Amino acid sequence: MQVEDYINAGKIAAEVRENVRKKNWVGKTVFEICEEIESEIIKRGAKCAFPVNTSLNEVAAHYTAEPDDQKTILETDLVKIDLGVQINGYIADTAVTVCYDPRYDSLVNAAEDALQNAMSMIKIGVKASDIGRIIEKTIRQLGFKPIVNLSGHSLDQYTIHAGKSIPNIWSIGSFSLSGNTAYACEPFVTLEKGLGIVREGKIKNIFSLVSRKKTKNSESDEMLDFIWENFNQLPFTLRWFLKKWEERKARELLEFLIKKKVVKAYPVLLEARAQPVAQAEHTFIPTDTDVTITT
Ligand code: MN
Ligand code: MN
Repeated sequence: MQVEDYINAGKIAAEVRENVRKKNWVGKTVFEICEEIESEIIKRGAKCAFPVNTSLNEVAAHYTAEPDDQKTILETDLVKIDLGVQINGYIADTAVTVCYDPRYDSLVNAAEDALQNAMSMIKIGVKASDIGRIIEKTIRQLGFKPIVNLSGHSLDQYTIHAGKSIPNIWSIGSFSLSGNTAYACEPFVTLEKGLGIVREGKIKNIFSLVSRKKTKNSESDEMLDFIWENFNQLPFTLRWFLKKWEERKARELLEFLIKKKVVKAYPVLLEARAQPVAQAEHTFIPTDTDVTITT
C-alpha cells in the first residue's frame, strides 16, 4: 500500500469536494459540472479515478454527463456529486450532496451525521457490521431510511471495489478492518416513504474494462489499448474519448467492446419508490488508535 499516494490523492479530493460544496450550481448543466470538477482534479496534478458522478434526486448513483449533456440543475434538485482522485492508481473516493431547497437539509444532514458517527468509531479491528449498525441507527433516529443495498468498500491500486463491503445497516458475515487497507464509507439516505433499496435504471454512461482480450477489429482494439493506457481498470465515460474520436464513432466502438464483453457498462441506480437520496462519503485508513481520513 502506497500511503503517501493515498494521502496526496485524498488532499486533492477533499479540497475539490469542499469547493463543490460551497458553490451554487443552479442553472449549470451536468456537463459543465462534470467537466469543471474533472479539470480541477487534473489541474492539481492528479488523475480522475472515475468520471464525476452527478446523480440527481431519486438517482442514487452512477450517473455522469453525456457529451454536451444539457440536464440543468434546478433550485429544487438534490445533487449528489461523487468524485474520485488517483495518484499511481491509489484512490481517494469522496462525495457530497448539495441542495438549495431547505426541505432536504435534514436528509442531507442525516447522511453527513451517519458518516461522522461511523468515522468516530473506526480503528484497526473494528467490525464492518458495527459500522453498519451505527450508520443505520443514526439515520433511523433522524427519521430517515438507509439504502440497504448500497455500501462502502475496500480500495486497492486501480481497483475501486476491492472485495470487502462496509454496509449501511447491521449485517451478518462481517470482517474486521485492517490497518494496511484503504476503505470508503458511504451512507446513502432516503425518506421514510422510500423503499430504502435501489434498482437498476436503463441509462448506462459509466464503463470499465473487464478484459484486454483483443477483438480482432483494429479500430476497437485501438480503443481497448487507449482505455488500458489511460484508465487501466478504473471506470471511464464517453466524454473522455472525444479528443481522439468523433462522438458517433466513439459510441459505435464502445458498443462493440460491450458486445464483445471486454467492457462492461454500469446502469444508474434508482431509489425503488423514486424518493430522493442523499449521500456522504470519505476514504480512510484505520490506525491502531483511530483513523486517517484521507479525504
Ligand atoms: Mn464515491
Ligand atoms: Mn465509493
